Amino acid sequence: MTDRYDVVVLGVGAIGSAATYHLSLRGREVLGLERYGIPHTMGSSHGISRLHSLSSSRGGEYVRIARRAYELWEALSAATGEQLFHHTGHVRAWPADGDGHRGGIEDAIDGLEENGLEYERLTGAAVNDRWPGYSLPADHEVCYQPDSGFLDPEFTVSTHVRQAARHGAEVRAHERVVDWRADDDGVRVRTEKGAYEADELVVTAGAWAATFVEELAGVAVPERRVMAWLQPTDPDRFLPENFPTFSVDVAEGYHYGAPTYRVPGFKVGNRPRIRETIDPDEMSREVTAAEEELLRRFAGRYFPAGAGPTARLAACIVTMTPDERFVVDRHPDHDNVTFTGGFSGSGFHVSSAVGELLADLTTGEEPAVDPAAFALGDG
Ligand SMILES: Cc1cc2nc3c(=O)[nH]c(=O)nc-3n(C[C@H](O)[C@H](O)[C@H](O)COP(=O)(O)OP(=O)(O)OC[C@H]3O[C@@H](n4cnc5c(N)ncnc54)[C@H](O)[C@@H]3O)c2cc1C
Repeated sequence: MTDRYDVVVLGVGAIGSAATYHLSLRGREVLGLERYGIPHTMGSSHGISRLHSLSSSRGGEYVRIARRAYELWEALSAATGEQLFHHTGHVRAWPADGDGHRGGIEDAIDGLEENGLEYERLTGAAVNDRWPGYSLPADHEVCYQPDSGFLDPEFTVSTHVRQAARHGAEVRAHERVVDWRADDDGVRVRTEKGAYEADELVVTAGAWAATFVEELAGVAVPERRVMAWLQPTDPDRFLPENFPTFSVDVAEGYHYGAPTYRVPGFKVGNRPRIRETIDPDEMSREVTAAEEELLRRFAGRYFPAGAGPTARLAACIVTMTPDERFVVDRHPDHDNVTFTGGFSGSGFHVSSAVGELLADLTTGEEPAVDPAAFALGDG
């Protein structure tokens, strides 16, 4: 016996939980299949906070999808009565003499202006005066976006799944998908526990996406990242009301971070100079002393009142594309299969809007954002 659904969603992390929710909102019978728990810490969607910055140097469509995601976070909060989005504003800083990771200040400002979003152009010195947790180089160029903030990733995934269930979706955790096949009659998905049929398949398998969509092999490549939470010596400076989230290019490379929230430390993460491609099934989840030391050294220099004892460390997986543009597309050989991949370290904040876009592509409705910007091979 095989159960039949309208849509099977393969992988219920950030994107899959949002797709399950948006499809169920439209009255579709949805089955979400997840190999781990809801939520879990083996993929890309854990670690206390995720930045939601409305500024992006990757072009107007990336700002538009971030803005649409923001509207959807607010709508989901209103529907549940839960606070999902924490407003802090976002500080994006570059060296005075050049661009950084993913372009420069002019690209970021163009994207904000194109989308009618507010911003302030500041210097590092002005940032340090206004938010005393910061100690950026005085001449750094800064774009401050006041509507940005952060989300709690595990709570957000759980909220999408809870709300999807209220609209009739079924989610089966601890059920690993083995393979799928598709033809004109629909799709058949095999798991370690059974088999399911559906009209449509949505593949949202994150770091494992290329296992199920071979077109993503070599395009969406998993890498290891680490995060640290450090206990401030002056805790008030690092509370959400006093400390905007940040992403900065400095001599030590690209770093990002968020205020103290839920655990007794402010968060720092980096993009390591030596990138480590991994197999997500084999990756070490232990953070080494050397990795911790790099993050502590960065915090000690640019956030000195934050760099007290380490409170927490975690490892996580990002899935990178060569140009850091993510993929949301129809399968080239099967028009009843849609897939995502390669969110390149910034997929969480847009997950609500990507879930909506997947629902649009699956049900044939007019999308709120232009899907062509996220097509495979169009980056
Ligand atoms: C350290 C770190 C910091 C980050 N910071 C930010 C940030 O500040 N802002 C931001 O926007 N983004 C950030 N990101 C990126 C963001 O978290 C990811 O882009 C996003 O979580 C990806 O979601 P996903 O649904 O694609 O992957 P996941 O959430 O990992 O979901 C994929 C799911 O598929 C499941 N799956 C895989 N194989 C199978 C199978 N065979 N059967 C069933 N299920 C399967 C997995 O178990 C998993 O649950 C960060 C990432 C990391 C690692």
